[in-house]
Amino acid sequence: MPLPPGHPFPIEKYRALREQLLAEGVVVPAEVALSEPAPVSWLEQAHDPSWVARALAGGLAREEERRLGLPWSPAMVTRARAAVFGTVEAAFAALEHGVAGNLAGGTHHAFFDRGEGYCLFNDHAVAIARLRAAGHAARPFIVDLDVHQGNGTAALFAGDPTVFTLSFHARANYPLRKERSRLDVELEDGSGDATFLGLLDHHLEPALDRHAPDFVLYQAGVDAHEHDRLGRLRLSHAGLAARDARVFAACEARGLPVVVTLGGGYGRPLESTIEAHAQVFRAARAARDRRPAAC
Ligand SMILES: [Zn+2]
Repeated sequence: MPLPPGHPFPIEKYRALREQLLAEGVVVPAEVALSEPAPVSWLEQAHDPSWVARALAGGLAREEERRLGLPWSPAMVTRARAAVFGTVEAAFAALEHGVAGNLAGGTHHAFFDRGEGYCLFNDHAVAIARLRAAGHAARPFIVDLDVHQGNGTAALFAGDPTVFTLSFHARANYPLRKERSRLDVELEDGSGDATFLGLLDHHLEPALDRHAPDFVLYQAGVDAHEHDRLGRLRLSHAGLAARDARVFAACEARGLPVVVTLGGGYGRPLESTIEAHAQVFRAARAARDRRPAAC
């Protein structure tokens, strides 16, 4: 998608991540499927149809485009729809294989009738709608460990007790006006590995056991990393790896299918972000390989 020079959105990380995972053999080419634009009817299962229509047609007000943070273009919309499609496809693959992921997505700042924070449509919400239309995910559980609150996701499911939304995020970071997830865990700027992992140990498994989910969606943003320009937490690569290992192990111990999506990562250098995202998918690969083979 076209971006003005110097725009902070790290568009180049997506291709770089895919190439690195293939080069390392974390995934083989046959396991990587090209996404396509999600049908409008899918988007309308989670979003206000009038918002979908305006977003597709370029009818955003200047203020809406400013909040979104991306200049409107047909390619921007196609890309947003493809990110949704990838998460939906990966969610169904997770039903079959136990673990699957989207090398994009995690668009947790998109609300029912508006987008913000680089997120036009909410991929997790559309994936849940699609799973449910097929008779799955009666009690989904969203683990959102991006450094920013999953505010759109929280608002979308605020009235639905069958969906558990867990968000770990930095208290003082964007979005300044927080929504209410089912469980919000707020961290102070500068929190490091030990604090983050201690809170994860304290909250994740008890929340899973309380909700008794049948499907997990993991927003594995890596902007909590110490080299991130936006995150301001101080997680190391080892800390993020320990985080991911805990999430996949908790799902594995309960026999829960899990779909993982990218989320934020704005490192300087960008290589540290790509490495952090790659680590998420190495952990996903290992978790996938521990599951019984699908027949
Ligand atoms: Zn983020």
